[in-house]
Amino acid sequence: MKAEIISVGTELLMGQIVNTNAQYISMRLPDVGVSVYYQSVVGDNPGRLKECLNIALGRSDVVILTGGLGPTKDDLTKETVCEVLNKKLVLNEECLQVMKDFFNRMNRPMTENNIKQAYLPEGSIIVKNSNGTAPGCIIETDGKIVVMLPGPPQEMRPMFEETVIPYFMRFSNYRLESKFIRIFGMGESAVADKISDIIDNQTNPTIAPYAKEGEVTLRVTAKYDKGEAEADIIAPVVEQIKARLGDVVYSVDNESLEEVTAKLLMDNNLTISIAESCTGGLVSARLTEIPGISKVFNRAVIAYSNEAKMEHLGVKAETLAKHGAVSRETAVEMAEGVRKAADTDIGVSITGIAGPGGGTPQKPVGLVFTALSDGTQTYCRELRLWGDRRRIRNVTAHNVFDMVRRYALKLPVNG
Ligand code: ATP
Repeated sequence: MKAEIISVGTELLMGQIVNTNAQYISMRLPDVGVSVYYQSVVGDNPGRLKECLNIALGRSDVVILTGGLGPTKDDLTKETVCEVLNKKLVLNEECLQVMKDFFNRMNRPMTENNIKQAYLPEGSIIVKNSNGTAPGCIIETDGKIVVMLPGPPQEMRPMFEETVIPYFMRFSNYRLESKFIRIFGMGESAVADKISDIIDNQTNPTIAPYAKEGEVTLRVTAKYDKGEAEADIIAPVVEQIKARLGDVVYSVDNESLEEVTAKLLMDNNLTISIAESCTGGLVSARLTEIPGISKVFNRAVIAYSNEAKMEHLGVKAETLAKHGAVSRETAVEMAEGVRKAADTDIGVSITGIAGPGGGTPQKPVGLVFTALSDGTQTYCRELRLWGDRRRIRNVTAHNVFDMVRRYALKLPVNG
């Protein structure tokens, strides 16, 4: 089946938000035998949406629309789709009840315009929304399938997983299964080079590398005939890749680096404290996203100024004067200082220049030091990162988690 995604929303067209819905849907549809051939973005304009939809229906079997299902006047997706497909919008009592219950639970009055959301195209399959008010729907008409889903990703994704994926699964005579190998500490081209023979010789499963902010992910996807119990063809390939790449592979279950690191800390009862300068709490924020981390995470000190580094972390004035705040020596004293103050097994630290200003020829933007101290030994990584402030801070956080992961696994901390 050939599919096309239409993302509706003027905010998307103006670049105010990133079209993560289209990316998500495009990534998931091949898993159920649906190929995405086109993606388009159209503003909240019925005329242009109509035009876009007519083109899509002329060339694709499946059209998936997201956005514009809300209660306001500019939410026109449903009305426009119905006009093009010549369908009536009818009040769905079940949806209306769900919506009333939703507002009751929130203790908010339901306004008249909310009722608009309970109107669905006649004969359509409802896609329930457990995280918001606008239901979605699937319309089967004249050999085409049109799916409408709300715009907010936190509503769209569960709806897509719970209803849309199982819906398409029924049509496909094969099933796809993917495993994601997550890698840190080796670039995309080095990874591809190391496993090029494996990639080139594989037809099933297929292997696709993706790179994102210092990390590489390998998607290993196998195609199985539906219904048949078959031998697992993914696991041996994953094992082969793991053996080839070594300890830069941190997960074969698509976990994030912080998830893996946090699990290691918790499993080994390894307590941690953090001293952050240029990441301003980012490392701690990512760590505290993991449930149960309070068992091992003692504290974080965000020491942006020299005074804070001296007062809260015991960094020596001479060190700062001689080597500067962004230096190996300061990073080491920060890690040792926070570990001592918190009395944890390990202390980690970050100091660097995230830019865009503040760089010098000796200490350019992107120069970052991260350190890890365990009371006996202190390890330090000097990073020379490129990119904007956001990227530099993110890649720095990855590096901190990688150091902690390697330490917990008793691997050489600096690779
Ligand atoms: P609502 O009930 O919230 O009005 P809706 O279906 O009308 O839902 P929109 O009004 O188009 O959706 O978008 C609501 C919000 O959802 C946007 O402000 C944006 O944050 C997010 N959003 C919409 N479309 C996308 C998209 N394609 N990718 C990522 N986020 C999106």
